[in-house]
Amino acid sequence: MSEVLNVEAIFGENVFSLGKMRERLPKKVYGELTKVMAEGGDLSLETADVVAKAMKDWAVEKGATHYTHWFQPLTGITAEKHDAFVTNPDENGHMLMEFSGKELIKGESDASSFPSGGLRSTFEARGYTAWDLTSPAFIKESAIGAVLCIPTVFCAYTGEALDQKTPLLRSMEAVSEQALRIVKLFGNTEATKVTPSVGAEQEYFLVDRSKYLQRKDLVYAGRTLFGAPAPKGQEMDDHYYGTIRERVGAYMKDLNIELWKLGVSAKTQHNEVAPAQHELAPIFSTANIEVDHNQIIMETMKRVAIRHNMNCLLHEKPFAGINGSGKHNNWSLVTDNGVNLLEPGETPNQNIQFLLVLACVLKAVDKHADLLKQSASNVGNDQRLGAHEAPPTIMSVFLGEQLEDVVEQLIETGEAKSCLHGSKLMTGVSTLPDLDMDATDRNRTSPFAFTGNKFEFRTVGSSDSIASANITLNTIVAEAFCEAADVLEKAEDFDMECHDLIKKYMTEHQRIIFNGNGYSKEWAKEAERRGLPNIKSMVEAVEALTTEKAINLFGKFHIFTEAELSSRAEILYETYAKTTNIEALTMIDMASKHIIPAVTKYVKFLADTVIAVREAGADASVQLDTLNEVTAYLKETKEALGQLIKAQAEAVAMRRGKNQAFTYRNSVMVAMEALRKPVDKLEMIVDKEMWPMPSYGDLIFEV
Ligand code: ADP
Ligand code: MG
Repeated sequence: MSEVLNVEAIFGENVFSLGKMRERLPKKVYGELTKVMAEGGDLSLETADVVAKAMKDWAVEKGATHYTHWFQPLTGITAEKHDAFVTNPDENGHMLMEFSGKELIKGESDASSFPSGGLRSTFEARGYTAWDLTSPAFIKESAIGAVLCIPTVFCAYTGEALDQKTPLLRSMEAVSEQALRIVKLFGNTEATKVTPSVGAEQEYFLVDRSKYLQRKDLVYAGRTLFGAPAPKGQEMDDHYYGTIRERVGAYMKDLNIELWKLGVSAKTQHNEVAPAQHELAPIFSTANIEVDHNQIIMETMKRVAIRHNMNCLLHEKPFAGINGSGKHNNWSLVTDNGVNLLEPGETPNQNIQFLLVLACVLKAVDKHADLLKQSASNVGNDQRLGAHEAPPTIMSVFLGEQLEDVVEQLIETGEAKSCLHGSKLMTGVSTLPDLDMDATDRNRTSPFAFTGNKFEFRTVGSSDSIASANITLNTIVAEAFCEAADVLEKAEDFDMECHDLIKKYMTEHQRIIFNGNGYSKEWAKEAERRGLPNIKSMVEAVEALTTEKAINLFGKFHIFTEAELSSRAEILYETYAKTTNIEALTMIDMASKHIIPAVTKYVKFLADTVIAVREAGADASVQLDTLNEVTAYLKETKEALGQLIKAQAEAVAMRRGKNQAFTYRNSVMVAMEALRKPVDKLEMIVDKEMWPMPSYGDLIFEV
């Protein structure tokens, strides 16, 4: 029998939650803290001192020796620098563990080693971290011991944001303010806040660690840069939702426990489409907490994998030819008196507030499709998007039959008199009940799909932070709400004007709605006809950040200044160049030091065989054929390697920025693909014993 696991008891064990604060803080202090949490403002230093002491006492009881301001610089992952609670000993040599309010609320760190895109030069290295008290502190346990992590924002000396969290919090305030104007118009005067709720489904791969270590591409680049397909791929659909293997099961169990302790409500787990691919989804929470939680999930996935002698691959496309990994970002808006603005109810055609919100979202996504695409672009996602698996590169919205029908009626007649209802699913078995069917089927090919009471943005990459995507979503929807409220607040006849506005938005932005197959060639053509952007790569997407449209949008809602936007664009170009450079160097290294030498040995072996067979008086034509084939591919490999070396040298010598990034994409990437081709061919012919690294089959079928 399984050992009984008390999930209720361990859940949130390592989180300094509101509940723990209430238990441990004087009433007055707790009151001041929750007031600042709800309404914003500054915490007094006295209060901060009391909170810090309580937090430290709790952390020390749990074995913590250090604390860290945990922040999310523009590297896509989190950063931390540990400080011990240790203080100067007194004259008797006795030392007290201490932690002050000042240390809790503000940290100063050298910002010069984090990407800043020109916002800060090394001589103004100062950067500040400040406690984000809307996200709880937690204790991270690893081989290093227990560390108290305090979620913080990270800004330059001059106040510009150097992180993901600051603009995210700004965007949450913006969308709340504008959404409140909308709900007030519909008579909801009690709501004081509207929060974006987010649930991010995380896909990942697991591979055996000893095999991982034999693949320099996985070690340095996080994805395979060579690799012939295994005889079996995912064509049998036998992995998706399949029984979870024992080794992976043990990993998932451990992972869940670690996450529950950290207050992450890990909820669903299953095998994904590709062999060795899996998914975990938590229960949704407030956007900023979900952003933290998703980072915690990614870190924990990697850490727990090592314990199980595996490696967790979060890259968007670790293996060519089989499914890549993404992150479905489920997003909705909920008032603090419990109304989900994206809940259509039984009869969406009569739910005017919902229809207005829907019209605003359609308008926002259509107007800012380029920004939305950009917000979900990263280097790895370029390998994944646009192939026959993940969302296509063209942004469109899937509404489903029921809503599409309502929208069509509104556009045609200005009124939606009816709505389609789900029917019964007849099981045809007398002992089974007939099931109510949803009014809308699922659509797996859409990048942005309405799924009942939320939108699911599916373009985000598996290794990326979900912050950018949510900053963009919150801001573009805030803008649409603001423009609608500007009109409706002045309306003489509210019902009439609201009705007209819904019709207007839906008519003007209908082109973004697409319910068909997003993978089809016809859609690419149709989208072009509709004038929808088709942005195929990360480097092409970057420009969206610095258009006049983007500067106005982000400026109006105080999310990013123009300087912050250009700095982000610059960081993205640099990231693209650096990442691709590492990949190119890895390929050069592997081809020169491992693949070509191994194939050369095989050639020698074949040549010796040909001679031996001939000497023995037999027909050596088969061996000779193989020898010729291998030699031809080897020659092609050597030439392609030369081309890549040349392309990389040219690109790396360029000045940083847009041109360099484009050179990496248009020249280095192309040379990388050309090198991969003959090598993958060779892998199919060369003796497996002599091939210098584990194959796709070894990696994905033998976990
Ligand atoms: P599916 O595979 O059908 O997309 P999952 O259960 O894998 O469903 O994931 C759905 C995700 O959406 C979960 O993280 C869930 O908590 C989240 N979610 C559900 N309702 C909402 C909502 N109203 N707002 C935001 N996220 C939501
Ligand atoms: Mg899912």
